[in-house]
Amino acid sequence: DADASADEADPNLTTALLGLTRGSASGLTGFHNEADTDPSLPANRAWGRRILDRVETSTLGLDTIAGARIDDVPTLNHVIEQTLAASVAWGQKTGAERASVLHRAGLALAANRDRLIEVMAAETGKTIAEADPEVSEAIDFAHYYAERAKDLDHVQGAVFVPSKLIVVTPPWNFPVAIAAGGILAALASGAGVIAKPAKLAQRSGAIVVEALWEAGVPRELLALVDLKDHSLGTTLIGHPAVDRVILTGGYETAELFRSMRSDLPLLGETSGKNAIIVTPSADLDLAAADVIKSAFGHAGQKCSAASLVILVGSVARSERFERQLIDAARSLRVGMPSDPVNQMGPIIQPAEGKLLHGLTTLGSEESWLVEPHQLDEEGRLWTPGIRTGVMPGSYFHLTEFFGPVLGVMHAKNLEEAIRFQNAVDYGLTSGLHSLDADELREWLDTIEAGNLYINRGITGAIVQRQPFGGWKRSAVGPGTKAGGPNYLYGLGSWVTDPGRN
Ligand code: GLU
Repeated sequence: DADASADEADPNLTTALLGLTRGSASGLTGFHNEADTDPSLPANRAWGRRILDRVETSTLGLDTIAGARIDDVPTLNHVIEQTLAASVAWGQKTGAERASVLHRAGLALAANRDRLIEVMAAETGKTIAEADPEVSEAIDFAHYYAERAKDLDHVQGAVFVPSKLIVVTPPWNFPVAIAAGGILAALASGAGVIAKPAKLAQRSGAIVVEALWEAGVPRELLALVDLKDHSLGTTLIGHPAVDRVILTGGYETAELFRSMRSDLPLLGETSGKNAIIVTPSADLDLAAADVIKSAFGHAGQKCSAASLVILVGSVARSERFERQLIDAARSLRVGMPSDPVNQMGPIIQPAEGKLLHGLTTLGSEESWLVEPHQLDEEGRLWTPGIRTGVMPGSYFHLTEFFGPVLGVMHAKNLEEAIRFQNAVDYGLTSGLHSLDADELREWLDTIEAGNLYINRGITGAIVQRQPFGGWKRSAVGPGTKAGGPNYLYGLGSWVTDPGRN
């Protein structure tokens, strides 16, 4: 949202950014990405099976969530006051002091890898193949933001003033990584935090917060809340003590928050409607695999997911590539994550509204390459769907569905394909499969999305290597990217340092 970013642009931020790039303690040292569990090792497979055996009867997080329940305004106010009080001493610590707590948090998350996978599988239906890297990402956020907290001590010409109270509202689709990312960034910046996990994934959020408490983050500084109803959400967001809200969710949620409090500094990543463009120069085998993975990983429930594949020129005219997509989609095994052979799990709740429409209804010029089928009575297990003939300007072209359905569009040339992608309101991820340098340049120069991927899938951003954030309606706030070098800078305010300027 361009207007919102302009509202919140902080002139001192620019000064601070310049200060940092000029030297000081910045740099990429002191951080490496956590490795995922290697499933080729028999011991790891046995470990994974033991986790999955617990999924169906798992009760992880239930007690913690029960204890975090807030039923009325006085209790909520008490939590707010307590967090505010605890934030004073925390905000006065140096970044380096906070960093040591953050590093301990990373170790605690790593020690809880099995529980985090179990709770995500139990609560959201995420497969182990999706949940394991998500835990790695959460650990990465801890160690990465620890190092970036140290940077805050060394910005030249400006002093960073932490927020006192940041509310973090993570989504249900990445209930561990994005919850941990928001909470850890806020803590690293020196703020107190109230974490409010999404209703559909509260237990996962609870296990993250417990791990952080275990690591020595004071409970008063990091509160976990389960708000009984919507009006308490309005009270929290509207409370003048709340300095900032870190949000990941639908664009509508950001609008809702703004309607609760118009001057609210919001930082966040919102919806996406993302395409992978495939040109005739592409390695088509690689492209087909990347499209399928990006479209159907976590049953398409990622803001970053590929919802469209745009075939250019001869790729559109020949049937070969579509055949590859059909075969690959049909080969995916769909079922509950407790059985490790399943590659695509359920959707979070029975399909309804837009998603049900996307799974069952074709536009006038569309036809199914692979028709989706509902496998269970409840409506959570769907086989993947691929429709072709998606026309520019049509409902499918412009709407986010957030589920296992992909649309194929045909474009005369790359320019037209880019125009199709840029016509959507959102700008989160975008992919190009091409082996032609001129095409890469043209696409890089003109595509409107925050996260660009060449000859790779378009999901699975990696902390530090590929900071993640949106453009257009996929972002709110100052435009700093999660897992990137200046994310913490957007979480406080800046004053010019008179002694050094
Ligand atoms: N960071 C995730 C990715 O790169 C997407 C986050 C989201 O869906 O909100 O796949």
